[in-house]
This record gives sequence, structure tokens and C-alpha cells, in this order.
Amino acid sequence: MSGRFAPTPSADLHLGNLRTALVAWLAARASARGFIVRVEDLDWPRLPDADAIVRRQLADLTRLGLTWDGEVVRQRDRTDLYEAALARLAPLVYECFCSRKEVATATRAPHGTTPRYPGTCRNLTAAARDRLRRVRPPALRVDAGAAELMVHDELWGRYAGLVDDFVVRRADGVFAYNFAVVVDDGLQGIDQVVRGDDLLESAPRQAWLATQLGFPVPSYLHIPLVLAADGTRLAKRDRAQSLTGLLDAGLTLPGLLSRLAHSLGLAAADEPVDLMTLVRRFNPARLPREPWLV
Ligand code: GLU
Repeated sequence: MSGRFAPTPSADLHLGNLRTALVAWLAARASARGFIVRVEDLDWPRLPDADAIVRRQLADLTRLGLTWDGEVVRQRDRTDLYEAALARLAPLVYECFCSRKEVATATRAPHGTTPRYPGTCRNLTAAARDRLRRVRPPALRVDAGAAELMVHDELWGRYAGLVDDFVVRRADGVFAYNFAVVVDDGLQGIDQVVRGDDLLESAPRQAWLATQLGFPVPSYLHIPLVLAADGTRLAKRDRAQSLTGLLDAGLTLPGLLSRLAHSLGLAAADEPVDLMTLVRRFNPARLPREPWLV
């Protein structure tokens, strides 16, 4: 069984991504799991520099010593697998013609959370669907029966969240992140998911979908984000926070590892550490729950 790191090649990895990668690697190695890297380039037409960015992301992981097992998998090559999984889900899938704006105004979701889909298109008649298909192409949603689901997170404990009728394939034909991630984790034998806590909210939906597709629900560990000192998220394109930018500014690789380890409560300030020491010290339940301000 394996853990994984699954970056999107939209920009170079920044300090937050590097920290997530380190935790994912430590969590996998500390539990004697394999470690897989998967490139989440599902939306490849909108990721024009993806190949170059993937090369730099993998080089960064290598520079930090975060070795992975097997070939790096790319989501853009896996459409057939997603089609096959979608076919298995067919009894639960329906066409949705709502625009993003229509969903947002119908729901008034609190800021930062995904709006709950109100089910507008769930029970359309065949005639209504035919008429709407001539107006716009449909997205595909799953009928989740408005479930609520509890997941267990290694850091946050029990987390209950909504499972609404989320999108599995977008109107432009691209499979949705929430769908592809579950299919990939299931097919790749991933039983440990480590990522930023901005995705904690998605875990109940993904756990529900995994069960529908006959995959075991993985263990989850959602780690707090790295934020700029003013509390805003690190900009993906801020070169100063990329590994190359940090090294250019005078940080060394051992210095970076020490800084990341300290931010995770795994080392004293400026303590020189190596990865094997961190593997021995790693305890997911004792990671900080606060965002790391840089
Ligand atoms: N590809 C996502 C990202 O780069 C991570 C998704 C996941 O780990 O489930 O933020």
C-alpha cells in the first residue's frame, strides 16, 4: 500500500507544496508504505507549460531527497480509466445544465466553501433534457442522496461533511478533480492521502465516491497551509517561494529541510536534521494545527 504526492503542474512548487510533499513522504516512509508521485494534469489544455513544470517539480523533490516508487503517472494519460469508472457509476449519474453562477445564487454558500448543489437537474424529464442539450452541453453529477459522511483524519480526528450531488465530469468534457483523484487513488492502491487542509472539506465526498466505486477509503492527513505573514495564501507564481528562488536567496538545502522540520514541530530551530531522523520522529497526531506563517 502507498501514500502519494499529487501536484498540479500549474506553477513551480512553493514552500507550502514542498512542505506538503515532505509530510506525505514522511507519513509514507514512517508507516513502511510505498510513495507514489502523480501529476494532476487532468486539465492539461489549460496547463500550457506543464511538461517543463513537471520536470522542475520532480527535480525539486529529488533535490530534497523525497524519492518515489515506480513511474510517475500523469492524469492526462488516464482518460480511458476514468471513462470505465464513470460507466460503473452510471446508475447514479445525471446530466446537469446549471451554470456555476446559477448554482452559486441558488445556494449562498459561505465564503470559501463549495456551494451545495441544490439538485435542480436531478429529476428533469427526458423532454426537458433534450431541450436543454440544444442550449448547452451538460456537466455530469452523481446523485449522492444528500448524504453526510464522517471521515477520520490523522490530525483533525473525526470530520463530518456534506456529500452533495457533486460534478464528476465538467461540461467541457474534462473529468472533475474529485472524481479522478478517487479513481486514481483506488486504482493505484493508495491507502494514505496527505495534502493541504484546504481539501479537508472534499474528503467526505471523495470517501463516499470511493465506497460507491468499491475502493477502500484511504486514511487522511490534511495539513495546515503555509500562509504569507499577512494571512493570505502563497501565490503559486511567487518565484521567491519556489525552491530555486529560496536557494538563490541564500538558503541551503539542509537549511530548508531544517526550517520545514521546525515548522512541523519535528526539529528545534536551526537544528540540522536528515530525512531518516525525521522519519523516526514523525507522528501525524502531533503536527501543528495552525497555518505556518512565513
Ligand atoms: N492536485 C492537488 C493540488 O495540487 C492535490 C490533490 C490531492 O492531493 O488530493 O493541490
